[in-house]
Amino acid sequence: MRNGKNPHSQKPAQVRTVNFRENVKSPAQAETDRLDILINKATGLAPGKASVATSPYTASRQNLRIIPMGGIEEVGENMTVLEYGDDLIVIDMGLAFPDDTMPGIDYIIPDTKWLEENRRRIRGVIITHGHLDHIGAVPYILPKLGDPPVYTMPLTAGFIKKRLEEFGLLGRSRINILNKDDAIALGNFKIRFFRINHSIPDSVGLCITTPVGQIVYVTDWKFDHTPADGKPTEFDKIAKFGAEGVLLLMSDSTNSIKPGYCISEREIGLTIDRTFSDIKGRIIFANFSTNIARIQQVFDAAAKYNRKVIVTGRSLVNNIEIALSLGYLKIQPKVIIKSEQAKKFPDNQIVILTTGSQGEEAAGLARIARGDHKTVKIKKGDTAIISASPIPGNERAIAVVMSNLTRLGAHVIYNKVLDIHTSGHAHQEELKLMIALVKPKFFMPIHGEHHMIVTHADLAKGMGIPENRIFALDNGQILEMNSAREAKVVEDPKVSSGYVFIDGLGIGDVGEVVIRDRQVMAKDGMFVVIMTLDRRSGRLVNQPDIISRGFIYMKGNDDLIREVKHEVRKLVESKGKEKLEPNWVYLRNIVRDEIGEYLYQKTERRPMILPVVIEV
Ligand SMILES: [Zn+2]
Repeated sequence: MRNGKNPHSQKPAQVRTVNFRENVKSPAQAETDRLDILINKATGLAPGKASVATSPYTASRQNLRIIPMGGIEEVGENMTVLEYGDDLIVIDMGLAFPDDTMPGIDYIIPDTKWLEENRRRIRGVIITHGHLDHIGAVPYILPKLGDPPVYTMPLTAGFIKKRLEEFGLLGRSRINILNKDDAIALGNFKIRFFRINHSIPDSVGLCITTPVGQIVYVTDWKFDHTPADGKPTEFDKIAKFGAEGVLLLMSDSTNSIKPGYCISEREIGLTIDRTFSDIKGRIIFANFSTNIARIQQVFDAAAKYNRKVIVTGRSLVNNIEIALSLGYLKIQPKVIIKSEQAKKFPDNQIVILTTGSQGEEAAGLARIARGDHKTVKIKKGDTAIISASPIPGNERAIAVVMSNLTRLGAHVIYNKVLDIHTSGHAHQEELKLMIALVKPKFFMPIHGEHHMIVTHADLAKGMGIPENRIFALDNGQILEMNSAREAKVVEDPKVSSGYVFIDGLGIGDVGEVVIRDRQVMAKDGMFVVIMTLDRRSGRLVNQPDIISRGFIYMKGNDDLIREVKHEVRKLVESKGKEKLEPNWVYLRNIVRDEIGEYLYQKTERRPMILPVVIEV
């Protein structure tokens, strides 16, 4: 840990969960009155003694600041901070996956330097649901913030705990498990929850009551009137918050470019059922390991058509265990079997449930497709079902997996062939309904690439929200709102908004320079020039040595190598004359520049040049 202090020594958050149903107020009542009551009731403070009044900070601290730490210019690494007075709350701690410009990087997480400096002000962390782009950075960031308390729903808590356990951090963290009808008060903030549908159970939206107004925060959601688990969105709560008055709505933009409505998970269940009834051979079913509803529907169809299920893939096994233990998944007895038992059953009684629906190289499906899976070998008559749509960037990897599967003789079913997958993110008509229910004064589209966010902003405009009340923020921008219910976009150079690369065990030790080096080497290779020099005279003791990797073959380029050696020799000799004292740093720079230029002249390539000086 960076700070040697006891992580639990920070000021305890003022928290008490209260049942909020008793606090329903008429919409006509002034919002500030209501806030006093709510906050004081929740915190147990006397009226007028809420920390708003006692805050030692200057006037600007009396504004509410919405600080996105990630997730507004990309899909992933979702993290938002709310600041009022002396209090900060954090919503979600996600990671993102690298793109092609970041060779060797495993994950990307938000830069939390500013938050670390202000960690004593953090009253709590709220996690909306258990996807990696919302919980993945918890083990990296939580300890750096002094392990503030985390508040979330049961299944999400199960997934977070598993992740913390894998990092050996479970013992020190404080994960508080809530019910969706709970309300919590964290300093100046009071948070109520409502259930929304998404591609993982236990997803919640937040209604955050602040001293300047209410915020409805819904990242990652859709409306599903017939979800597989029978638990639809709590429209009544959303409408109630809308009636109470909402200052700001922050809502999911992932599918803002898609018209209409998302297909219901129940429809997918029917397709799975039909498919299972038609297929004669083995079924290999790949989907997201967190999509518990989909997993449930596979088990249901398997039981109905008398098939046994073999589960392969670590994350799938872990998540099924967690969901089973918490009652989010119900599996009929004797449906799951071990792979060794498969021999006892004919092919038409087998389902192999696997990870790898995104074509990930190390996951189950890709290994099956390459023929190097330990227990599953594809044979003619197998059907592979890929129940997912590609996350942008993964299309190529998935296509390779599908081609390999067909080469081995399998029939492949995927989303373009059949509706075998539905997204967890609202389409346009659902997004509009959310805006209609919440009726916010201000609107801030979140969660998506910039063009998705702008499209979502246009939808809101089309519904009558004036343009100057819609805020499509860029990274580094902050939305500030005051007690007069005015809002403006500000920038605060103190607040870091970049990201941090994770590579192996290194967190943040790989920066832009390392990435640039990797890009250069990946593109044009490297070229090492080894010069053995006499310590006193600075003269070459023997011929320079050359090593080339990923640039040219040494063999077959004898002429070029000979010429380079000659150039190096010329350089060392002329510089040796200029300088009385041998200066290796200077010499290395000269060799790098001149030889780099020489190689470009000859090849129009720019390998990374590494001059090495050996003194004798
Ligand atoms: Zn999600």
